[in-house]
Amino acid sequence: SAKEKGRNQYHFFDPGLDEHRRNRRNQLMEISRALENEEFELFFQPQVQVTDCQLLGFEALIRWNHPEKGLVSPGEFLPVMENSHLEAPLGQWVLKEAIYRMNVWREAGENLAVSINISAPHLMDRSFIDYLKSYLHSHPDLDPAQITLEVLETTALEDTKRASNVLTRCRKLGLQVALDDFGTGFSSLTYLRTLPVDIIKIDQSFVRNMLEDASDRAIVESVIFLAQRFAHPVLAEGVETAEHARALRQMGCNFVQGYGIARPMPAGEVLDWARQWQERVASGKHGDAFNP
Ligand code: C2E
Ligand code: MG
Ligand code: MG
Ligand code: MG
Repeated sequence: SAKEKGRNQYHFFDPGLDEHRRNRRNQLMEISRALENEEFELFFQPQVQVTDCQLLGFEALIRWNHPEKGLVSPGEFLPVMENSHLEAPLGQWVLKEAIYRMNVWREAGENLAVSINISAPHLMDRSFIDYLKSYLHSHPDLDPAQITLEVLETTALEDTKRASNVLTRCRKLGLQVALDDFGTGFSSLTYLRTLPVDIIKIDQSFVRNMLEDASDRAIVESVIFLAQRFAHPVLAEGVETAEHARALRQMGCNFVQGYGIARPMPAGEVLDWARQWQERVASGKHGDAFNP
């Protein structure tokens, strides 16, 4: 079309223009190269029961082991990839790697549950379910119920009918679904009503200041109340102190995750951490929750 032609010419004759777009293209090329070079790595952060500290599982969180910049956090590269052709391939890598790790731990004798962040475009990708099935198929001893898919409230989930369809198929395969960063989107209540969800995650932005800020506290309490009314367990993120954990327990929250329990750790540290934690829980050393 004339428009496309115009765009090409513009691009060809004006290399100095549209710096932002060129930047993004370069960044995407770098990310694509990083995928090929296997520079991405999953870290894992524990999630525990707030009443008795029992281990629920671990959330897989991606990092980029950049040759020059060192460990780069997802906040710096995921936004660049948004709606790009790389979103699904990276998502596949995360899914495959997380399931692979679960299997390594299982073979070492620990059945650890893992929760995996799935971007909306990846979830909606036509091959998503097929890939998922093939990964599960290659690890027949893994219990799919140990896998939770964390989906964010984002605009791409707006096609709630389709999203709901895919998530229902995932649940039929035995997986669990978590609604991540609950309350930060525009359609939280619609999602709560329409999506097949097993667990609600309260965003850390509400948890962080809930001890000082009456509004934040009110939101956290309301989300817990709402989740209970829907019979969904609730997990609070960003739990940094024992006070947070205690307050959340009193409010009826089920699970917590945050620096107060542990920071995200490399996969190689997970087994030891889990065993030590479970030993301490078994020996009653976590009595009044959370003085790790
Ligand atoms: P999220 O899924 O809500 O993950 C929780 C984020 O909070 C993580 O940041 C975690 O490191 C951080 N966090 C946990 N506890 C605390 C705490 O006590 N205090 C504070 N200040 N922060 C805490 P991270 O790892 O930088 O990830 C940021 C976001 O990037 C994630 O938010 C998730 O939306 C996205 N993400 C991470 N890994 C993946 C992935 O593999 N795939 C996709 N699609 N998204 C991912
Ligand atoms: Mg998450
Ligand atoms: Mg979250
Ligand atoms: Mg978040």
